[in-house]
Amino acid sequence: MEKIFETNEKPIANGSVPSSAVASMPFAPTVESDVPSQKPQPPADVLMESHPAPFGRPREFLGNRFVYAVISQRAYGLSIGINLNPDKACNFKCAYCEVNRDVPGRESKVDLGALRAELEDLLDLTFQGRLREIPYFHSVPDELLVLKEVALSGDGEPTLSQQFSEIVREVVHVRSGGRFPFFKLVLITNTTGLDLPQVQKGLKFLTSEDEIWAKLDAGSQEYLERVNGAGMSLDKMMANILLVSKQRPIVIQSLFPLLNGQEPPVEEIERYVDRLKDLKKCGAQISLVQVYSAHRPAHLPKCGHLRLRTLSRIARRVRMGARLRAEVF
Ligand code: SF4
Repeated sequence: MEKIFETNEKPIANGSVPSSAVASMPFAPTVESDVPSQKPQPPADVLMESHPAPFGRPREFLGNRFVYAVISQRAYGLSIGINLNPDKACNFKCAYCEVNRDVPGRESKVDLGALRAELEDLLDLTFQGRLREIPYFHSVPDELLVLKEVALSGDGEPTLSQQFSEIVREVVHVRSGGRFPFFKLVLITNTTGLDLPQVQKGLKFLTSEDEIWAKLDAGSQEYLERVNGAGMSLDKMMANILLVSKQRPIVIQSLFPLLNGQEPPVEEIERYVDRLKDLKKCGAQISLVQVYSAHRPAHLPKCGHLRLRTLSRIARRVRMGARLRAEVF
């Protein structure tokens, strides 16, 4: 899952990277000078070339069933992920999706006891500074091994999980148990189930320091179907985004892929900006728009990475047109 002004901020309050760490980072800011950015803009290509392993997503290297770890560009470092969809359930078919649904999910349900044990073990390794014992993290710079978030995400759409609220409650219990320093939770969603009662119940467990990152890749129904193969209307997505963004500030995640060698049409970007303006007009609190492209190999070969220049142009339109903060990743 970026735009007019550029943000990630409120959200990224505790995801900020100290300037001393930034100075030694393997990447330099890349966003154009007119882009008001408070964070370094990590160029995906540089990151991936310098540290290929952590930026792929072979989540299985820990041997876990439900908890994984990645170095996330949008989190600015280590993200521990909770897979709410071991069954790979999703109502979208995004052109850039990394999940291969030709291979069925390994489990139909999340075992809460196993999830808790895996999460506590990984948090132990993280906070004891022992992640580097894992070969996967051998060459990762120290500053990227600082935990930035625990993400409610996975191989499908988290808000479609029947266990959504009990999983959130379990993770919040781990956090509040006093065994670990506070960590931020981030729900990464395509917006589908944000209005469902069990999801609304689960969201009540989140604090103001937690975040919701909601997908919005299109400004028209036609483009939504092309890029996301969405099993829902754009109007419904907008309604769900509005619902939660009136309850708390959210981050909009917008991924613009190169589709069959084609960039997103200029008119489509304008319609997308119009959607953001509509959300604002209706009272949505949007702290940041993340603009990025497909970085990892997609399951479908028609999908490619948009050049940074185009992404920066889109972000500028978000800033100028919708007067929102936008960051390019
Ligand atoms: S919403 Fe996420 S999990 Fe679902 S198809 Fe799109 S990228 Fe894949």
